[in-house]
Amino acid sequence: MSTTFLSLGLQDPINKALLDLGYEKPTVIQQKAIPQIISSTDDLKAFAQTGTGKTAAFSLPIIELADQNNSNIQAIILSPTRELAVQIGKNIEDFSKYLPQLKVVTVYGGANIEEQIKKLKRGAHIVVGTPGRTVDLIKRRVLKLQNVQWLVLDEADEMLNMGFKDELDKILVATPETKQTLLFSATFPKEVEAIAKNYMTKPIEITSGEKNTGSDNVNHEYYLVTEKTRYAALKRITDLHPNIYGIVFCRTRRETQQVANNLIKDGYNADALHGDLSQLQRDSIMEKFHEKNIQILVATDVAARGLDVTNLTHVINYKLPDQIENYTHRSGRTGRAGNKGVSIVLVSKKEQSRLNAIERIIKKKFIHQQVPSGKEICQNQLFYLIDKVKNIDVNNEEIVTFLPSIYEKLEGLSREELIQKFVSLEFNTFLSYYTNAPDLNNLSSFGNSRGTASSENMTRFFINIGRKDRLNPAKLIGLINDQNIGDKINIGSIDILDTFSFFEIDKNFEKETLAAFKANEPDFNGRSINVEITKTDRSSGGKKRKGGVNTEGFGRRKNTKTTTSSKRKSKLSEKPSRSFKDKKTGGFGRRRRAR
Ligand code: AMP
Repeated sequence: MSTTFLSLGLQDPINKALLDLGYEKPTVIQQKAIPQIISSTDDLKAFAQTGTGKTAAFSLPIIELADQNNSNIQAIILSPTRELAVQIGKNIEDFSKYLPQLKVVTVYGGANIEEQIKKLKRGAHIVVGTPGRTVDLIKRRVLKLQNVQWLVLDEADEMLNMGFKDELDKILVATPETKQTLLFSATFPKEVEAIAKNYMTKPIEITSGEKNTGSDNVNHEYYLVTEKTRYAALKRITDLHPNIYGIVFCRTRRETQQVANNLIKDGYNADALHGDLSQLQRDSIMEKFHEKNIQILVATDVAARGLDVTNLTHVINYKLPDQIENYTHRSGRTGRAGNKGVSIVLVSKKEQSRLNAIERIIKKKFIHQQVPSGKEICQNQLFYLIDKVKNIDVNNEEIVTFLPSIYEKLEGLSREELIQKFVSLEFNTFLSYYTNAPDLNNLSSFGNSRGTASSENMTRFFINIGRKDRLNPAKLIGLINDQNIGDKINIGSIDILDTFSFFEIDKNFEKETLAAFKANEPDFNGRSINVEITKTDRSSGGKKRKGGVNTEGFGRRKNTKTTTSSKRKSKLSEKPSRSFKDKKTGGFGRRRRAR
C-alpha cells in the first residue's frame, strides 16, 4: 500500500507546504496517527522514536483542525528540551506557511520571558513549550490553557527522565477534561504508563512500526576498553573512518567538555554541546554541526535531543547512559531517513553486562569489534586519500598557467616516485603516529578499569543523602558541580546507597570540596547536606558497589593517553592547519590538523 499525503485528507495549503519541504510520502507513524487524530477525539498513545516523523504526525492534524478564527490557544505541545521545542515550533511554521492566520508561539527556559509573554499576548493558536517555562507562564496567567483541545506530550519518557513530573502534573490540571491527549514516547517505562493511566481516557495505541526498521538501519557494535584506553580507542575508531560524521555521547557535562577539549587539542574537528553552554553558544554549535563544519559533536543526552540531523554515520557511546532506555534515543540519531548508521559502545569489562539488557530492548545483538590497529587505520586513510585524488575535479583553466613551471620542477621524477612523494606528503604524519602503536585490545597491559593508582589520588567523601532522597549519580554530579569547587575537579566513583552515598574527588581538591559544601550550605529536596571525608577502606566489601554506578576514571585525562601521545604531539606541530570540510565535494577532508 502506498499512502500519499493527499489520501490523508489534509487541506491543500498543508499539502503544498509538505511538497515544498520535499515530504513525498507519509512515514508509518504519520500514516497511522494523522487519520486517527483527524477523525477521532480519543486519546492517543504512540510509540515513536525520534527520526520517525512524529513531529508531523501530531502537528499536521492539529494544524488541519485548528480554527484560525478562534483566538484561544487550541493546542499545547510539551517537549523536554528547548532545542526540541524550537525545532517543533519551526516545523509547525513550515507546515502552516500557506495558512498565514495560524499562529504558533514557542516558549522555553533560558530565554527572555518578557519577549515570550509579548508574543503570547499577540495571540497563539498553538503553543510549544518546555515544561518549566510553561508552568511559569501559567502561574503568571499569561498562558491560558482552559480552551485547549489538544495536549501533546512529546518524548514523554524523556520529560519524566529529566524530572519534569511535577511540572507535567501542574500543566495537565490546567487543561480541560475535554481535551484530546496525544502522548508520544520512544519507551514506555512505568512512569510514562502512570501518566497515561492517570491522565488519559482509554487511549488508542499505535506504534510507528519503525522501531525495528530504524534498528535495521543501525548496526550495533561494541569495543572493549579500560579507562586507560577509552579515549585512545575513540580516536582510533574515528581515524578508521575518515568520513565520520557523528555524535559522541558522554554522561556528564564535564566529561563531555573534557572529551571535546581533548579531541580539539588532538586536531579533530570536534566541539561540545551541553547544558553549561549558553543558548547562543549551543545554537551556534548546532548550526556548525548541521553544516558539517563540525565533524564530531561530543554531547550529553539532553543537549542532543533537539538535533535534527538525518545523515549521521556514527553514534559513539563514550560511556553508556545511566538509564539504558536512553540507548535507543542515542542510537536512533543515526540510521535516519533510510540511511545506514552505526551505533558504537565503548565498554569496560565491568560494564559489559549492561549490553545484554540493551540487546533485549533493541532486539538486536551487539557485534564485538576489535579496536583498530595502526596498520588498519593507515590503510583506510591511505585509500581514502587515493579515492579523493581519483575523484577530484581538475580545474584546467585555473591551473593551466602554473603547469609548465610545475612540470619543470618535477622533471626527472618517475611516475612511481611522484606518486610515492605525493602520498607521503599527506600521509607521513598518520604513518609515523601509528608506527609502533600499541594493541589496544590487549587490555591486561593497560590495567583493569579501576586502576589503583587513580584511586590513590582520590579522596572518598561521605554525603548524608541517598536513593531514598531520590539521589542518582547524575544528580550527585550536578550537586557537586553546583558547588563551584574548581574548574578542573575530577569526580571518581560514586556509590549511591539507601540513605547516604559516597563519591570520590581528586585529592588536590579535598579541602576545597569540604569548604565549598560548608560555605554553600546546599540542600537536596529540602534535606540539608553534610559532607565528610570517609576513612572507609575502599576495598572493604564488594557490596559497596551494590546499587552504585561506576564513574571510574571520569575526567582523568592523564589515564586516557596512550604511550604514543607524546609522539603525536611532536608531529602535530609539523603540520599546518587544514580545512576539515571539503567544500568542493561536500564531504569531509581530513581533520583540521593532521595528527
Ligand atoms: P522527527 O521524527 O519528527 O524528528 O522527523 C525526523 C526527520 O524526518 C525530520 O528531518 C523531518 O523533517 C523528516 N521527515 C518527517 N516526515 C517526513 C516525510 N514524510 N518525508 C520526508 N521527511 C520527513
